[in-house]
Amino acid sequence: MDDILIIGAGQAGMQVAVSLREHGFTGPITLAGSERATPYQRPPLSKAYLSGEADLESLELRAQSFYDDRLIAVRCDDAVVSVAFEGGDGVAVTASGSRIPFAQLALTPGSEPRRVSIPGCDLAGVLYLRDLADADELKARWGAAGRVVVIGGGFIGLEVAAAARKAGKTVTVLEAADRLIARAVSPITSEFFRQAHARRGIDVRVSVQVTGILGTGDIVTGVELADGEVVPADIVLVGIGVIPRSALAEQLGLKLVGGAIVVDEFARTSDPRVVAAGDAVLMPHPLGRPGQVRLESVQNAVDQAKVAAATLMGAPEAYRAVPWFWSDQADLKLQIAGLSTGFDQTVVRGDPDDDHFSVLYYAEGKLIAIDTVNDASDYMVVRRALGRGATIPPELASDTSVSLKSLLVPAAA
Ligand SMILES: Cc1cc2nc3c(=O)[nH]c(=O)nc-3n(C[C@H](O)[C@H](O)[C@H](O)COP(=O)(O)OP(=O)(O)OC[C@H]3O[C@@H](n4cnc5c(N)ncnc54)[C@H](O)[C@@H]3O)c2cc1C
Repeated sequence: MDDILIIGAGQAGMQVAVSLREHGFTGPITLAGSERATPYQRPPLSKAYLSGEADLESLELRAQSFYDDRLIAVRCDDAVVSVAFEGGDGVAVTASGSRIPFAQLALTPGSEPRRVSIPGCDLAGVLYLRDLADADELKARWGAAGRVVVIGGGFIGLEVAAAARKAGKTVTVLEAADRLIARAVSPITSEFFRQAHARRGIDVRVSVQVTGILGTGDIVTGVELADGEVVPADIVLVGIGVIPRSALAEQLGLKLVGGAIVVDEFARTSDPRVVAAGDAVLMPHPLGRPGQVRLESVQNAVDQAKVAAATLMGAPEAYRAVPWFWSDQADLKLQIAGLSTGFDQTVVRGDPDDDHFSVLYYAEGKLIAIDTVNDASDYMVVRRALGRGATIPPELASDTSVSLKSLLVPAAA
């Protein structure tokens, strides 16, 4: 038997299946998913799909015929509930009771929203946003909701806040930390977004503690803060981060750290028969810097899935890719290349007051990442530069009269 089972029919799972066929794998592939839809893009759920500019069909990563043509068996709406190796072979059992035998396994289960656990958290209208079902519930309540409160000033929270404001709603963002998007960007970029959203009419509050959610009957009416203030709400969108889905990895006894599945640079878990990729995974830094990282991005899901497929084929290739990410918030396009963790210097290029600028991040004088707002050109220059190990002297980078490209210094031979 050479069957390959992929658990998790999302961004990474679909890519593992496609890459296996591209590598010439001819055996059976099953892509097992718990959602009713075939794999689709999540990013528009908080952007174009929410605002009605994109429909369900445009979200699909591939049409059903694509899977049919490649003999990829996509099983939707039937979560795998248990998985084990019995003797040499593996078997997975789904919620409906089906048994799926396999020789090799790819785990791509993604992550799920971290929940708030405060009084009122179960009221109708307290919502999360991870999948299509969540997005459809949000959309169903969207039209009648005049007041939207977002708990959590991360990417998803701010994207929903921006979409709500654009739709004419009264919007409040409540962030417990002292700045927005604190895990991903520098204080300069955080402060820019605080001011930019405030200028667009969103009430953005940082360093606030939410103590409860209030309602009439079982319907949400407001959010209570530690100082006793109640912020009125028809919808409360909670976006306070995600946790990796690791229940099946636990069943298999795989090594986990902080709830994430630990893999090496070849996407191998602690069991050589199992690879893993995507949001659920903790891996070595993809540019070879010290430490391990867990990335929540389309880029990582796709690139790591390709690595996982190569490993399953017995032709391992180390994961080396420049991380990149984007977030659309109103008319502001944030693009990030590289990972800024461990930076010791930043250089601002352009003027944040013009909604058009970049922040370059350095560690020991070497360029490691960039955030750009409405500047795709600087973003692309740095993304490519990081891939080649090139840098840009920090003392020259702020001069907007000179193109970033002309400042590139190639990697030392
Ligand atoms: C609203 C939103 C906006 C986003 N915006 C951006 C953005 O702008 N840019 C960006 O780069 N990234 C963005 N992301 C993140 C990006 O979508 C994820 O990083 C990416 O989808 C991760 O891919 P994955 O395959 O690891 O997980 P997923 O795409 O979540 O796929 C995992 C799948 O596995 C299924 N599954 C889990 N357990 C089981 C089981 N036991 N049996 C069967 N199936 C199972 C899940 O239901 C899910 O369908 C966004 C995410 C969300 C939710």
